[in-house]
Amino acid sequence: MEGISILDGKYAATMDMYPLQSKEFNMIYKFYDYLREGRFTTTKCKDCGTRSFPPRIICEECLSENLDWVDLPTGGTVKVVTEEVRGVPIGFDDPLIHALIDLDGELTYFARVINCQAGELKPGDRVKLAVFPIDPLPVDGRKGEIIKQERVFFAFEKED
Ligand SMILES: [Zn+2]
Repeated sequence: MEGISILDGKYAATMDMYPLQSKEFNMIYKFYDYLREGRFTTTKCKDCGTRSFPPRIICEECLSENLDWVDLPTGGTVKVVTEEVRGVPIGFDDPLIHALIDLDGELTYFARVINCQAGELKPGDRVKLAVFPIDPLPVDGRKGEIIKQERVFFAFEKED
């Protein structure tokens, strides 16, 4: 971190907001495994049928742990667009664009839209899921070794 000596070597641990995604650290690790396959998923309760988003480890309706993974659409239609061109948080490029996206009637979701210039995205545009790698986070492994966990995250981008 040039110029901010107090953050030297500490950026990942102090400022990183992305979760650890492996089975050892995260009970919804399957969400990230499916993302790597290009699938956008969530959990659905096998007992009462409630579908949650984001994915859960316990049903929000009946508290059952008997959950299944189900696919959500990976494409949708933009309803509202927001563009942040000043004061974008550290680690993000400007403009930082978010949109309220109707995932083909299954879910309306506020998500980041990447690979897009300010003024380019409009209500009615079609967007699709975009999965991308994020910086691995070093974690303590066995016998004191440092392991770098590969991670991915998702956003949406305009369809061609
Ligand atoms: Zn339930």
